[in-house]
Amino acid sequence: MIALDTPAKELTRYGKTAASRLKDLGIRTAEDLLRTYPIRYDDLRNVVTIRSVQAGDRITLRGRVELISSRRSFRRHMAITEALLRDSTGAIPLTWFNQSYVGKILKVNDEILVAGRAEEGNYPLHLVNPTYEKIRPEQSHVGAIVPLYSLTHNISQKQLRALIRLVLPLRHQLPDPLPEELRRTHGLVPLADAIHHIHFPGDDRSLSAARRRLQFEELFLFLLQLFATKALIKTTPAPAIPFSQPTVKGFVEHLPFKLTEDQRRAAWEILQAMEKTQPMNRLLEGDVGSGKTVVASIAMINAAQADFQSAFLAPTEVLASQHYRTIAESLQSQNIPVALFTHSQTVIKGEKVTRSKLFRDLANGRVPIVIGTHALLNEKLSFASLGLVVIDEQHRFGVEQRKRLRDQATSTHATMPHLLSMTATPIPRSLALTVYGDLDVSLLKHLPAGRPAVTTVRLKPSERERAVALMKSEITKRHQAFVICPIIEESDRLGVRAATEEFERLSSGPFTARRVGLLHGKLPGKKKIEVLDAFRRGELDVLVATSVVEVGIDNPNATVMLIEGAERFGLAQLHQLRGRIGRGTAAATCLLLAEADTDKVRQRLDALVASRDGFALAELDLKLRGPGELSGQLQSGYLDFHIANLEDLELVKTVRAAAQDLFAKDPTLDSHPLLKLAIIQADVHPE
Ligand code: ADP
Ligand code: MG
Repeated sequence: MIALDTPAKELTRYGKTAASRLKDLGIRTAEDLLRTYPIRYDDLRNVVTIRSVQAGDRITLRGRVELISSRRSFRRHMAITEALLRDSTGAIPLTWFNQSYVGKILKVNDEILVAGRAEEGNYPLHLVNPTYEKIRPEQSHVGAIVPLYSLTHNISQKQLRALIRLVLPLRHQLPDPLPEELRRTHGLVPLADAIHHIHFPGDDRSLSAARRRLQFEELFLFLLQLFATKALIKTTPAPAIPFSQPTVKGFVEHLPFKLTEDQRRAAWEILQAMEKTQPMNRLLEGDVGSGKTVVASIAMINAAQADFQSAFLAPTEVLASQHYRTIAESLQSQNIPVALFTHSQTVIKGEKVTRSKLFRDLANGRVPIVIGTHALLNEKLSFASLGLVVIDEQHRFGVEQRKRLRDQATSTHATMPHLLSMTATPIPRSLALTVYGDLDVSLLKHLPAGRPAVTTVRLKPSERERAVALMKSEITKRHQAFVICPIIEESDRLGVRAATEEFERLSSGPFTARRVGLLHGKLPGKKKIEVLDAFRRGELDVLVATSVVEVGIDNPNATVMLIEGAERFGLAQLHQLRGRIGRGTAAATCLLLAEADTDKVRQRLDALVASRDGFALAELDLKLRGPGELSGQLQSGYLDFHIANLEDLELVKTVRAAAQDLFAKDPTLDSHPLLKLAIIQADVHPE
């Protein structure tokens, strides 16, 4: 008997290996499977007759297997399976390469559905590697609106669909957190129906009803939690941290540069806010390279001087270690111990220590500043006197994690730490309010002076040679180059394949004689840091990386960046990527290599060539792209919601009003135990 909490490894006949691959996707149990929503669908319902098929068509066919056989190609050692599919109007050959199991699954006389592209070439019309499925009461893979999930490699859409089919009956056991009355008022389908149709929609209507219901739910839970946190902030005081001018002055004087006017003002605003017992809730917005880190450092040393601790949360291990390095370095003059805590590293003042040592020193207050990843939210970790939480580039982090960190403060003086979130993503005010509630904003509008301009050049697909030549000439000048690869298939969400292929192409082709490194999302944290360190130390000439990894990396010696498939990125994202170069003194060039060469692509990329204003680019991007066109996994939006989309302002407004209404009536949620439970569960963040 399977249940909602049945571990994934017991569900699959693929056993442990498949389970560990599922774990990479955050799927541990049957319930997680139900809650893993597709990112797209393929409409494979429209079955046509074999006679009507023309070369180039993407089609679905239904017929009987007339012949099937497998062989091995002599020269290329490839397994080839060939079959003949017949319906009442004719027959068509099907060919599969390197899928020898097809020959074991399909038998002569099987009634099947297939979908794929009809090809001609040197052969008569046939389908190559078509998706296939035997006729069943309910089709999962062909002949239906078919779900596509965001997957890592090693697990196929078919495998995941089959697993979800298997656990689908359990949907009736999921408690529906949305009260029935609310569902009635807003015309929302019950959870079980929504789960059914988000995976296997019978038609477009059931799909959009399912999607609306699940989006509503996600936003509703999020907002309720936001209100609860806001209420908590209102009723819990923060420690008043006095502004010590000598401390701040001493620190600033030791910096190798002069603060910009914007940095000065932002720091002042932050220090002022932290003097109050009203918890600070502030967003520090500033373009890439505008120098947010040093502003945060000022707030942290000022807190340290008053015996309050600061926790600095970075989105990734690599960024955490980089921040650790720069912050620890800049604080050396102050003699303040800084610690680093991630899943693979525990360091105090540059020395490796044990976890328990670090935990002790945070609990007794000996370490005033700790920089880390989500690992900082470890339950066993507690602070003697947490006064400030800084969150870098992770917008959703704020609400829940702050509460968690507060709970980690020793209970004797339960105060709410001040919060500073930092972002280079220009968040429209309306969204910001929804997400953060009442928040204040400090803005770094201008970049520090003296930065060399980054020249941006758009290249046609045929101009790859130019890019290579420029990289080579920069390398000859002992500079370094980035090559950024887009993620092309959703099955390659971590960019393993995209980056690896590019790496192989470059290191065996134009850059054979050079040192080329590879960085993608699947490398273990330690390995990533090794690669980046090597790059920073100048031991690599070219770093091939995916966009998803570590956009915050800082290497002043990198003067050229080639962005492959540039049209696949949003403008704001391209702008952020480009911000990785031109951080030193030498002039830098960003090369945008587009695969497609359409007017629209040219228009978008030329905007980037012309403008260095991240905020303007982000707005332009919203305007130029059709709604949803670039959304989805590749172009992650403002927040990492599973299904909700904050740009759907209409829905956001509706849900907000509904959540406000319920919160006003039942602030403790005691009359809504299922809601309360859902919120608590949503709070748990596995890394
Ligand atoms: P971001 O806002 O993107 O996080 P960083 O804080 O990483 O930017 O700063 C980018 C670079 O600019 C760092 O190398 C930092 O030392 C440098 N920097 C920061 N402030 C100034 C300044 N006022 N003048 C010159 N360089 C600065
Ligand atoms: Mg930064």
